[in-house]
Amino acid sequence: MFSRSKHSRHRSVAALVAAVAGLVPSAALAVAPLAARFTADANAAGVSPAAADLAVIEGGAAATASAVRLQPPSPPPSPPANFPMQPTPRCVVLDNFGDPRSGGRTHEGADLMATLGQEVYAMADGVLVYQSKVGDGTNGSALGGNLWKLQAADGTYYIYAHLSAFVPGLVKGQQVYRGQVLGFVGDTGNAGPGNYHLHFEVHPGGGAAVNPLRVLTIPAGCTVY
Ligand SMILES: [Zn+2]
Repeated sequence: MFSRSKHSRHRSVAALVAAVAGLVPSAALAVAPLAARFTADANAAGVSPAAADLAVIEGGAAATASAVRLQPPSPPPSPPANFPMQPTPRCVVLDNFGDPRSGGRTHEGADLMATLGQEVYAMADGVLVYQSKVGDGTNGSALGGNLWKLQAADGTYYIYAHLSAFVPGLVKGQQVYRGQVLGFVGDTGNAGPGNYHLHFEVHPGGGAAVNPLRVLTIPAGCTVY
């Protein structure tokens, strides 16, 4: 980037600083005091101007690299507020709480229709108090497939069912935080092959389920049926 030809060695420290500052404005403030320090050191120690220039060039390069490293990383996509699923590419909310189900059951949640692999998110800070996995023989797995139960400090709990996969490393008993990715939409359990959706339940205070649509904030990109 910088020439170290004979010509450049005769450029003054000030000119080099100006050049660096002009090329990399954000580094100017960091370079200026460094250049002043090197100039004073060079004069005191009788170092040749060429050596002083080189030191300034290298100091300038280091300052530039630091400035780049200090740039904040681009923010990750944030989960929607008060909604348990990534709303893209597909989000169709079925208002089907209470619908009749086999064996005299009723539907305890709402089904959020999606595509395979959309992220599902923790609705609150809490603990993953229960997990069922396809084929593990637990009560939940035949119906819910891969399933998490997340419980918040106030006893409220949330059920996430039919997941295609869990986030690697998450285990039952683990503390998670609101907005954290817990797993991915799938069609496990009794969802029906290819019927990718999140079955989602809300149990306020640990009690009976309520219609999730009463407590969710539906993102603008979703449709409700
Ligand atoms: Zn359901």
